[in-house]
Amino acid sequence: MEKSRKYANVIIDISHEKVDRPFQYRIPERLQEKIEVGTPVDIPFGKGNTLRKGYVIELTDEPNWEPDKIKDITGIRQDAVNAEDISIRLAAWMKRHYGSTFSAALKTVLPANKKQARQKRKFVSLRMNVREATEYFYECVRKKQKARERILREILETPDERIPYELITNKLNVSAATLKSLADQGIIRIEEEEYFRKPVAGDSSRYGNKVLSPEQQEIVSSFTRDYDEGKRETYLIHGITGSGKTEVYIALIDEIIKRGKQAIVLIPEIALTYQTLMRFYRHFGDRVSVMNSSLSPGEKFDQMERARTGDIDIIIGPRSALFTPFPNTGIIIIDEEHESTYKSENAPKFHARETAIELGKLVPDGASVVLGSATPSLESYYRAKEGEYKLFELKRRLTGGTLPTVEVADLREELRSGNRSIFSRRLQQLMEDRLSRGEQAMLFINRRGLAGFVSCRSCGHVFKCPHCDVSLSEHRGGRLVCHYCGYEEPVRKICPKCQSKYVSSFRAGTQQIEDEVKKFWPGARVLRMDADTTRTKGSYDKILSSFANKEADVLVGTQMIVKGHDFPDVTLVGILAADMSLYASDYRASERTFQLLTQAAGRAGRGEKAGNVVIQTYQPEHYSIQTASKQDYEAFYEEEIAYRDLLRYPPVSHMMSVQIQSKDEAEGMEFSNKLRAMMEMANNKLIFGNAVFIGPAMAAISKINDVYRMAVYVKMDDYEGLIAYKDMLEKYIKDQESAGRLRNITVQFDFDPVNGF
Ligand code: ADP
Ligand code: ZN
Ligand code: ZN
Repeated sequence: MEKSRKYANVIIDISHEKVDRPFQYRIPERLQEKIEVGTPVDIPFGKGNTLRKGYVIELTDEPNWEPDKIKDITGIRQDAVNAEDISIRLAAWMKRHYGSTFSAALKTVLPANKKQARQKRKFVSLRMNVREATEYFYECVRKKQKARERILREILETPDERIPYELITNKLNVSAATLKSLADQGIIRIEEEEYFRKPVAGDSSRYGNKVLSPEQQEIVSSFTRDYDEGKRETYLIHGITGSGKTEVYIALIDEIIKRGKQAIVLIPEIALTYQTLMRFYRHFGDRVSVMNSSLSPGEKFDQMERARTGDIDIIIGPRSALFTPFPNTGIIIIDEEHESTYKSENAPKFHARETAIELGKLVPDGASVVLGSATPSLESYYRAKEGEYKLFELKRRLTGGTLPTVEVADLREELRSGNRSIFSRRLQQLMEDRLSRGEQAMLFINRRGLAGFVSCRSCGHVFKCPHCDVSLSEHRGGRLVCHYCGYEEPVRKICPKCQSKYVSSFRAGTQQIEDEVKKFWPGARVLRMDADTTRTKGSYDKILSSFANKEADVLVGTQMIVKGHDFPDVTLVGILAADMSLYASDYRASERTFQLLTQAAGRAGRGEKAGNVVIQTYQPEHYSIQTASKQDYEAFYEEEIAYRDLLRYPPVSHMMSVQIQSKDEAEGMEFSNKLRAMMEMANNKLIFGNAVFIGPAMAAISKINDVYRMAVYVKMDDYEGLIAYKDMLEKYIKDQESAGRLRNITVQFDFDPVNGF
């Protein structure tokens, strides 16, 4: 398509309020070829026509007002690229790559810009000497003063350090009153100061690098060799939990800092645990800071300022920490890179992994990207196999601890032998054993993709779409529906495969499981963790620390409980219904199941004692379950990639979901059909290459707040082709909007979707 290049919409001031109100300038002939979205330009501004710096955010052929009143762009800014330029370019890339308005993209990459009063930070350190404190510690143990015991144990581990106050109150679950009383007794000292200046005082060299294992060393050497030769690559470290990935990250960051660069470390918010943070603090002291959702806007702003001004070298945080404005980012590390939280759920629906790689290209001198996971995403492993990323394997667990024994319980078999409870006989047996020994158990229910798939409890048969090979979902009115292509069939009462009448959609909640546990084992102390019990701030940490502190025997929960926590006394993990996520109605169902099962299994046997895992399922022969029970990633990958290849799903091909939301169902469907027809017409002329269209169909969640949701899918081997379709639709939608014809409808795009719609 021909580009519109007569006028440029320019923003002068990168502040959120102004972003939505760009100023229009004419692009002079001599600059036509050079100006694109994101280019920094000089423009005459205001009555005096003072020269100001602005950024082009949009190119258009249509003047917003009388053409002869529009001023010319003076020239392109030639000064050195700064953090702001990079953010703008990244936003431009995100807009193009994922589809959104420029201002939405800009708001995503620009950190909160409201300067606020600096926050005070508090730290806790030991006041008495170590001998006295140790005596006091034993006194607490004797008196069973658990909270005091916990804090003293933590402080005594590193008696010369100061520990951030919030880390103690949040993660160790020690109340402010307890801390105050300890301070009043002269046992600890609580200090307050601006900022995170020195989260950890003293000599951090004591916590120097561990001597790396040969496998770890190989990664670090290989990385630094590349780096010093000017190669900026993407590296994937595949290693089970405890195989030493974090230690490698720390060594890599050391190397990067030696070279005068900075590091961004992304960790899923849920895995930002006290232990992880303290490892970084201990090693890097006051050069590291944290971003997370519990920081106030002012605190976030402060961390960004510290990054900008060189006060820190390392930021650790979830997805949004990617946009930390370091002057010289040298490395971007993404831990647990397979996590779906790395994909934004709001437009632009960007993926942190791809965006990190793009950012690595934009920063001065380039940055390398390091991905780490025990169960890499299909995307990353595929790219590594194709040679696009460099792959490293860490095969040994350095923590000691034995890998758990995993058993699969066939629920069809249980039914046949008359066991109708939600616990298989094997799980019941193991539960009894653990409870009698005073060890802990976790019961995990997989609620991902609970869109109501329907299966036969007798033979395990699952109703699937004949066209898309994803599970059909039960809808009101007794219909089974495919969320990709809209295929429908009536719900059947009798299984077509084995003629049994045990056909149902599987719905068991955490509440129900908690009740069952109490019924089976009245003496057991049970904690429950799910969306309901973690609604209030801090409740999530409370439950986890309470379980870690052995205030309960059994933790029942959703996938929340399987991530990033170490409970050395857990020796039994029961996965009650592994099938739930297996039959989510999207193409990533098997992958997610494998990841969840592997992670859940990894919860058992972290400490000295060996652990057991029981996976309950109606589909014991399914490859996700088979390979997860053997902890065999490679075997899973081979099966899964063959399936993706056959049906042209990502990462083998690419897929764009055009998500339409409408207050009026019929109007939405009509518009969706119109979009599909437009794309098909272009496809028939082979303008953008060969695409496959699916839908429109109602979304997995077909209605939210009285807004109907539907989607059209486009599959294409060529990502650029999908972008071309997206651009075409965006233009059409914008025209319709300007003409006032789209009042009830909004459209969003999702490329290579990760989260269901
Ligand atoms: P991961 O991030 O893969 O879960 P970690 O880096 O946390 O693994 O390492 C697991 C444990 O092994 C940690 O307690 C860590 O201190 C220890 N560890 C890691 N590397 C080494 C090493 N080279 N020598 C001794 N201990 C190590
Ligand atoms: Zn059946
Ligand atoms: Zn279908």
